[in-house]
Amino acid sequence: MEQFTCLFSYFEGYRVLSVEEAEGKKGREYVFTLEPEPGRELLCSHCGASCSAVHDRVERRVTDLPVFGYPARLLLPRRRVLCPSCGPRVEALSWLGPNARYTNRLAEYTASLLSAMTIQEASGMLGLDWKTVRGIDKGRLQRDFGALDMHGVKLLAMDEFAIHKGHRYATVIIDYETRRVLWIGKGRTRAELRPFFEALSPEQRVQIQAVAMDMNASYELEVQKFCPQAEIVYDLYHVVAKYGREVIGRVRVDEANRVRSDKPARKLIKGSTWLLLRNRENVTREADKLRLEEVLKANAALMTVYVLKDDLKNLWKQADEKQARSLWDSWLERAMESGIQALAKFARRLAPYVEGIVSSCRWKLNTSVLEGINNRIKVIKRIAYGYRDDEYFFLKIKAAFPGVGR
Ligand SMILES: [Zn+2]
Repeated sequence: MEQFTCLFSYFEGYRVLSVEEAEGKKGREYVFTLEPEPGRELLCSHCGASCSAVHDRVERRVTDLPVFGYPARLLLPRRRVLCPSCGPRVEALSWLGPNARYTNRLAEYTASLLSAMTIQEASGMLGLDWKTVRGIDKGRLQRDFGALDMHGVKLLAMDEFAIHKGHRYATVIIDYETRRVLWIGKGRTRAELRPFFEALSPEQRVQIQAVAMDMNASYELEVQKFCPQAEIVYDLYHVVAKYGREVIGRVRVDEANRVRSDKPARKLIKGSTWLLLRNRENVTREADKLRLEEVLKANAALMTVYVLKDDLKNLWKQADEKQARSLWDSWLERAMESGIQALAKFARRLAPYVEGIVSSCRWKLNTSVLEGINNRIKVIKRIAYGYRDDEYFFLKIKAAFPGVGR
């Protein structure tokens, strides 16, 4: 037993009576039998008060850090104290949560393993069932990220993302200023979004000044219902992405068809899609710049939609509302008179939403925060795929966006 004693000082308030080897589900295990040290102060796990009497005790089996590579189980009586203010409550211990089936140090070690490896790898290393490892991780995430914290939140951004291969969706709501994920829920309808707003106090609803989003009627209606004072701001990233798909994508295909008989011209257009969709400042290689110039010079329609993309983005960069409005008017006119059908159609559909674009100049919401979050969620999903546990997946997302300084 001496070779284990260095492990025992952790069990504050308890002493180890015996160590045995046993056959567990996955082979050898160590079983430590513990007993409370007599004469120690009893504390209530609910309020921390000192208590004078033990109410009752139940035998509890708890998992601890592996010992010499083998799983370690603790057998101990868990006591309930008689708290003067709370009544019977579990005794507070520094190393074991009130209802935990594993020690705090196992939870901490597991969390540190999971920052560098998958659940399967960590469970192999700990000699524990993968469901146990996931349970430990989920418990920690729930404790740290489970509650809705609206402290200091004034600007929101909301967005949807696909959960499973594009046919199930979830909504994510973030604090725009700190990029902290506040809330995630299944679905994207008004009813599915409502639990977030219902969880807010009247004061918290009033403190929301603006909400950035894609052009999405359900989101907008819910914001208007619960936070009527908040301004709706359309996110640049979504509008430009839509423009890329519906206008540039369409015109590129039409242009390639127009020059069908001219093989090199067709090849030039087909090979330039990514250049056309990329921001001009991100095209840095000389060869790419020349190619972009070449394709734009040879195709008037592509040139028009490319230039109008840049001007569309400028709408989000205006210093005041008047400038934004006059830029919009000229943009709309050029789009409608371009003779390019896909462009005119896009402009017509965007026109009713112009208030949400003009309002962007009053709020500094024109970064691509949502784009960045959306991309990182895709990565988390790839890693979390196979858990089949939405709640766990959502907690993982919250943990990945704890927020940065305001
Ligand atoms: Zn108490």
